[in-house]
Amino acid sequence: MNTTYSQFIDGASTSNANSETWINYNPANNKPLGEVSQASDEDIEAAVRSSERAFHIWKNKTGAERGRVLIKAAQILRSRLEEIALIETNDVGKPIFESLAVDVSSAADALEYFGGMAATIHGEFVDLKNAFGYTRPEPLGVCAGIGAWNYPIQIAAWKAAPALACGNAMIFKPSELTPATAIELAKAFMEAGAPPGLFNVLQGDGKVGARLVDHPGIAKISLTGSVSTGKKIFTSAASQLKRVTLELGGKSPLIVFEDADIHNAVSAAMLANFYTQGEVCSNGTRVFVQRKIFDSFLMQLKNRTEKIRIGDPTDPETQMGALISKVHMEKVNRFIESGKSSGATLLTGGVRPKKDFKGRDISSGNFVTPAIFTNCDDSMEICKEEIFGPVLSILSFESEEEVIDRANNTPYGLAAGVFTNDIKRGHRVIHQLQAGTCWINNFNITPIELPFGGYKQSGQGRENSLAAIQYYTQLKSVYVELGNVESPY
Ligand code: NDP
Repeated sequence: MNTTYSQFIDGASTSNANSETWINYNPANNKPLGEVSQASDEDIEAAVRSSERAFHIWKNKTGAERGRVLIKAAQILRSRLEEIALIETNDVGKPIFESLAVDVSSAADALEYFGGMAATIHGEFVDLKNAFGYTRPEPLGVCAGIGAWNYPIQIAAWKAAPALACGNAMIFKPSELTPATAIELAKAFMEAGAPPGLFNVLQGDGKVGARLVDHPGIAKISLTGSVSTGKKIFTSAASQLKRVTLELGGKSPLIVFEDADIHNAVSAAMLANFYTQGEVCSNGTRVFVQRKIFDSFLMQLKNRTEKIRIGDPTDPETQMGALISKVHMEKVNRFIESGKSSGATLLTGGVRPKKDFKGRDISSGNFVTPAIFTNCDDSMEICKEEIFGPVLSILSFESEEEVIDRANNTPYGLAAGVFTNDIKRGHRVIHQLQAGTCWINNFNITPIELPFGGYKQSGQGRENSLAAIQYYTQLKSVYVELGNVESPY
């Protein structure tokens, strides 16, 4: 254990000898990776002051100048792809093939997309009688980003890229469980020419997050996390009327109609439940399959799920890694027990494997084999609560009307998917589903060009795409008189 995860403030790693520390563990073997130090109140103050200084420099740059820095940072991430992907895999427990293909690339995509857009952010000209008006989208100031542990660098970049493109500075607090790659992003910004403090990183638990939310120097908060944390942040931000973007949890439906391509639908159901060990907010954990194809769908799903290669996340052939922590694994196991005791049938998986697909001992890691529950009922806990692990519940349905009602019967509304070869039905059903991010004939694809976010308790605001700009700017209207002031006095 030779790594120290410290604060990254004003362009450099800083350490405070008096700060509280804890050990960061590798989820695949529970061996220590390094020591993390909790940001102190002084660190928070230093970060806010440094970000304020950076903001005053950054907001006066042209969009093109800001964009160049973001695009350079993306190039730096891509040039360090393998190194950063390995850091992410060791920190999160996800397979290296995922970190290489998705996590770092998705972060770079966001920087390129918003870097390219930075020069195009502009207001409107309005012609008025003997006058004209124009609008200016202006930055908000210092924004706080608070991240979950499942996609650390992607979450940091999805927040930083639009924030910085719009002229803001950001202080980012990663999850206490995944302190590593936000620092790599901060270093990339520095190397790309960002002013010191433009992207500061504060390590710490929820207390550090809460202090940032309350800090008068923070103009806006963007959280990716659970519904319960979202409610706390929303409540506390309301007392100062701060803006918030909340990307929260879900219990999303994936609906497979009898005319669907079954092979593709099974592929999507597996992606929607087992990618990143099932630790994905938008997962389609309620898989509704129309009665006529239910048995054949289930047989294919079971066969293919049992072939998933679980094991050492650093092996390029591994398809499923380890859950983030022992505590989280125990929580997932409790849900599996709850499914069994409520009368659902555990068709496959849901156990802790001792050996991986190459016979290596993985008993010390947080591994759980991909689980499929059948004979489920909508009212069971496993069909209502977000599990955030590799647990799929399959439910049958008869009619379109019935499945729409059942799919919408949840306080969540993050995502939804429909599989059908009937183009009219695909759109008709999707239009009735109460979810912010939807797919027809695929699942969990999140291109940077499309808005991402939730309905109902799954969130507020949107990340990615042009839509993100309005959440990091405030609009100033300017009226310019060309005549005399008409005065009744
Ligand atoms: P948490 O809500 O526990 O934590 C999210 C972040 O908030 C962490 O950095 C955490 O700090 C911090 N935090 C906790 N309490 C507070 C507080 N009172 N004030 C400010 N910050 C606080 O979520 P998890 O990390 O467990 O992540 C899993 C959840 O995230 C799931 O519900 C998942 O669905 C959701 N998620 C949503 C996504 C989306 O885009 N919609 C994407 C990914 C995940 P710390 O952990 O260090 O204590």
